[in-house]
Amino acid sequence: MNILIIGNSGAGTAAIESIRKHDRQSSIIQLSDEAQPLYSRCLLSYYLAGSIDKEKLLYREEEFHKEMGVELHTGPGFRVVELNAAQRRVVCDNGRTFNYDRILIAVGASAKLPDGMPNDKGIFVLRNLADVEAIKENIRDADAKRAVVFGGGLIGVKAAVALNMCGLRTTMVVSSKQVLSQVLDYAAGQIIAGQLRENNIEILQPAGITEIISRDNRLKGVKTDRGQVLDCDILIVAKGVTPNIQLAQAAGVAVRRGIVTDSTMQTDHENIFAAGDVAEAFDIAIEDYTVNALWTCAVQQGRIAGLNIIGKKTDYNGAIGMNSLNVCDVSIISFGVTSPKEESKYKTLVLNQPERNVYKKIVIDSKSHIKGIILLGKIDNAGVLLSLIQRKADVSSFEDELLSDRFNYGTLLKYGGEKELGRYYNTGG
Ligand SMILES: Cc1cc2nc3c(=O)[nH]c(=O)nc-3n(C[C@H](O)[C@H](O)[C@H](O)COP(=O)(O)OP(=O)(O)OC[C@H]3O[C@@H](n4cnc5c(N)ncnc54)[C@H](O)[C@@H]3O)c2cc1C
Repeated sequence: MNILIIGNSGAGTAAIESIRKHDRQSSIIQLSDEAQPLYSRCLLSYYLAGSIDKEKLLYREEEFHKEMGVELHTGPGFRVVELNAAQRRVVCDNGRTFNYDRILIAVGASAKLPDGMPNDKGIFVLRNLADVEAIKENIRDADAKRAVVFGGGLIGVKAAVALNMCGLRTTMVVSSKQVLSQVLDYAAGQIIAGQLRENNIEILQPAGITEIISRDNRLKGVKTDRGQVLDCDILIVAKGVTPNIQLAQAAGVAVRRGIVTDSTMQTDHENIFAAGDVAEAFDIAIEDYTVNALWTCAVQQGRIAGLNIIGKKTDYNGAIGMNSLNVCDVSIISFGVTSPKEESKYKTLVLNQPERNVYKKIVIDSKSHIKGIILLGKIDNAGVLLSLIQRKADVSSFEDELLSDRFNYGTLLKYGGEKELGRYYNTGG
């Protein structure tokens, strides 16, 4: 079989590894428009900050593709510009064509840029290694002293911490009432905002940017909707991502926000699979199909897609939005639905100790299933709590113990949770 993979990142790599575990015969061709060797996108901000070397970004050994028997074509010219589903063929922007029997679309997402954002020097997004190299060069060449980060999500916070570590006076302009609003609730967001401020990162919120101030196509500052003018040499726009669905959409593959997939990561076309930031997959906590633009989800989905591409029918148990990060020495793990829209339908257990930078929250639905978790400062029992979400465990009998630092698998046994544990071990979890 001729397998074609578009995208050389988390999802594409996981697919290769799962295919090769069972199948050394099929040919695999992989295409990517990024010239760089396979790297870990999640570590980019640490490379920007200077806390890791470029070599540390490498996600697999340099020989990986050779060892896996993959014909890899990367860099300018290998951007796939057309997918012809009827002829099972793709066309790259250098004119080369590649045929396939089965294809995996693992082209990820792109950083969103607000309408009207000019293309001036000093304005960046943080998505690719090339973005980081350009930001680093700009800091050096323009002798940058002040930075603004527009956005307070995961990438915005990571970018602000990195720029601050580069020695730039950094201001975050955050549209919502809190930082990390997709990851944390308001109270936990306040603790993290406090830590950022303690580390000299200024936060304006809620605030937006209404004007870019430039001279000779070079960024000089931004104006906020509060009327403030912030002088800056660098602006990083971190306003979320958009799945790269255009290729699939033009080929007639069903798309919503992302490419629509079933439990095997197959699209509505028999020979076309999708995985990662570009795909919509089932989310256990939301109980619906959604895009979870997270590395762990990309890897799980790529693995499942790979198995199904070679005919090893395997269902995806479902994604769960999981964030794990460290902001100014405060560890954060969050899973699932942490700020439910219809709060009255849920019970929430909260432990809030801002003086210790500790916050825990557990969101439980009417069936006594955990739907979301925030652990901040104390993250030791994240594993057992995650397994309870994944297994839809009834937590009513040990609910009072869930916030305790000592809550573990032993506690489950004490409260008759053998059934959950049994399932845990039986499923090889
Ligand atoms: C700075 C940063 C920090 C992050 N931190 C975290 C974190 O802490 N935790 C976490 O879970 N997630 C994090 N993420 C998100 C995570 O990196 C993504 O979820 C993950 O990379 C998605 O993997 P993917 O394989 O789906 O796609 P991507 O990593 O986006 O890779 C897709 C590849 O396909 C290429 N491509 C796109 N279109 C084409 C085309 N037409 N032809 C050829 N090639 C194409 C792209 O250039 C890219 O190389 C972070 C992301 C960034 C940018």
